[in-house]
Amino acid sequence: MQLKFNNDFNDILENITDYKKLDDLNIKKFIEEILDKQYIYDLDKDEHVCIKCKSTLKNGICENCNKKYNLKNKIYEVCNYELYDNYLFTFFVYYFDIQETLLLYRFEIKYNINNQNYDIKINNVYQITNLGLYDLVTEEYKSFKDYEKDKDYMMHEYEYLYKDNLDILKNNYLYKYSLLWELKNVENININLLSLTLYPIYYKQFEYLMKMGLYNLAITNPYDYKYTSFKDNFGVDKKFYKFMKDINITPEELEVLKIVKEPNKELINFYLYNESIASDLSKYVKLDKLKKYLETQNLSGEFIYEYRDYINYLEKLSLDLTDKNNLFPKNLLEEHDKLELQIELTENKNVNDKITFLSNILNLNVYEDDNYIIFPARDIKSLIDESRQMHNCVRTYIDKVGENKCQIYFMRYKDNPKESFVTIEVRDNVVVQARCKYNKLPDNKINEVLNRFEKSLIPIYNEEA
Ligand SMILES: [Zn+2]
Repeated sequence: MQLKFNNDFNDILENITDYKKLDDLNIKKFIEEILDKQYIYDLDKDEHVCIKCKSTLKNGICENCNKKYNLKNKIYEVCNYELYDNYLFTFFVYYFDIQETLLLYRFEIKYNINNQNYDIKINNVYQITNLGLYDLVTEEYKSFKDYEKDKDYMMHEYEYLYKDNLDILKNNYLYKYSLLWELKNVENININLLSLTLYPIYYKQFEYLMKMGLYNLAITNPYDYKYTSFKDNFGVDKKFYKFMKDINITPEELEVLKIVKEPNKELINFYLYNESIASDLSKYVKLDKLKKYLETQNLSGEFIYEYRDYINYLEKLSLDLTDKNNLFPKNLLEEHDKLELQIELTENKNVNDKITFLSNILNLNVYEDDNYIIFPARDIKSLIDESRQMHNCVRTYIDKVGENKCQIYFMRYKDNPKESFVTIEVRDNVVVQARCKYNKLPDNKINEVLNRFEKSLIPIYNEEA
């Protein structure tokens, strides 16, 4: 059903296009507040940077201007912002307003990281009815039934709700029971168009979750909850309610709480987004013990993947999974690699021999200059070791290297040949991939060396070829 609008809306449309009105809306002040809290994470340099002076942050404090950042606030991730003059950080602000009718503005803000200017543009103005949304800017109508169908659409990470005037919703018949204005005092919420329209208007559970103070559940996935017993509804015992409310639990945190069954935010954060692995591992170890163990190994929550693999190796080798020495080895990564090698060697005895055989021929291609040496992978062990040191997946190339489908070379500093520096993949005498630690690309200086190495390569073909 298409809604029809009369001429009254022309006035609204004129207001929308009138940018001067932005000053009245206090939007600029709000945007400056948002920008004041943001800091940048430079993916290439792996460091946090002050949004104003681009200096490195140490413990959340800018080394240059001493500005303090709350590291819990969202960060904006960029790759090497220095390279571009116009590196833009885009975010959106939602703003409710009542004119002749209830309107929801969606402002797009483009912030130029380098010259610190920003532009405000009105992207959408939704006229909200009990049936759906009519966008006065694009003239598109979409019913809540349609929105419901694609409600799983990606949440935009940088969408903010202008909270100062939420009280106007108290008198609106659509929002009367929504309690949406309670979000005024809630920090760090992820909102999007649906959390502000479809959910409060269309789902009865929204009000119920808001009343319980479970704001993040209300604005993220209210449709997953029904009016049943607490346990059936949330999948955890009612004794956790206070905790859930205190931390304003998110659906992701709730998934982990179901598994760890402990009101412990730190423990939950440790396994966040890895709840299925955590659930698997909970059959073998207590999850709080595992967290402590990984911490004593100086490993973050990400390393539960390695731990899961390690447990699989123990199982494969029929080692005792109830023995504490097996479950919590002195050095997890070392033990992990040792077992991995043991399995690889028993399963792929031939492959290891082939790699060693090929490496003897590939030694013809060893490259040396004043600083660097480049030499071929000699066996499975060397590939596993490289993979561990470089945090890359070259260990998965074992079969390809054994079949001479590609050749793996290691570039190292001559005076420190045991420490990995660059992993190089060669196919048909061409360097097809070269990566530093954490899969970072090598700089120009290294690339020049790689070019010289590539030119010096002698082709080594498979016998069949
Ligand atoms: Zn600064």
